[in-house]
Amino acid sequence: MAKATRLSKNRAAQLRACLDKLEPVTDISDDPIQFVHRYDSSADREVAALFAATLAFGRVASFLPVLNEIFTQADECGGPATWVDNFSKEDADRIEPIFYRWIRGPDLARFARTIGRIRVQYGSIEAVFKVNDTPNQTDIKPLLEQGISIFQKFSLESPDEQFSDLSRGYRFLLTHPASGSGCKRWCMLFRWMARTEFPDVGMWSIPTSALIIPLDTHIHQVADFVGLTRRKDGSWATAKEITQNLARMDPEDPTRFDFALAHLGISGKCNKRRVPEVCDPCALVEVCRIGQPRKRSPTG
Ligand code: SF4
Repeated sequence: MAKATRLSKNRAAQLRACLDKLEPVTDISDDPIQFVHRYDSSADREVAALFAATLAFGRVASFLPVLNEIFTQADECGGPATWVDNFSKEDADRIEPIFYRWIRGPDLARFARTIGRIRVQYGSIEAVFKVNDTPNQTDIKPLLEQGISIFQKFSLESPDEQFSDLSRGYRFLLTHPASGSGCKRWCMLFRWMARTEFPDVGMWSIPTSALIIPLDTHIHQVADFVGLTRRKDGSWATAKEITQNLARMDPEDPTRFDFALAHLGISGKCNKRRVPEVCDPCALVEVCRIGQPRKRSPTG
């Protein structure tokens, strides 16, 4: 197992100076958060965020059209909140042909009905994650565990059903932190809803200091390049280690660099190897073990 990485004070200061130079991302047209910004009401935004975050895996160019189709149907029914609250047999038939990877139309229909039932019982999505909220928690894991357990329970539609019997696609929508997964899609949802700085929408009262970095391959690679972790797996432990090191630069808001870091990879700017014309102007070059020019060995 890789040795735990703990940034020294000097290294954290050096890294922070570089991260502060990262261009803020203002264009959200290739990011799923665009679907949250499409709506004004908090109810629509919560439901839109759930669908957009849970389907945000794989290639952006592949899942954005699927989300577009889903939200077109939701809009025809009065918006995402009204759509899930009144989700009918006709709505299930209309969504049936839509699929993304292993998630099928019937999985999306069940998810819509589940969100509708949860909204009736709890009034909002935020409330599900805060049922047993305790102050001073160190991170969002307990909130996620209780919230996703409730989602799993509300997914069952007959007394004979068990969550483990539901389709692989549906179970994937509700990946639980107890599995050890980094739960990237849920951590991203929490970042969207807790942080107030654009593009995040700051609707939930969750301290930003408790957020965990949404760990995907882009973040993992850059985190490895700049020394935030040496761990190789996409687990919760890796996400936590990267977040703890980011907290040495900003304890109140460790995930604030997530959007810019992830878009280094998503935009295709970072080639994951030294390309002088890309790496030399990169804000991270001074701290990136991949991007730095090779030192010539002395000759003669
Ligand atoms: S310096 Fe190069 S390899 Fe390193 S993060 Fe920047 S673009 Fe990627």
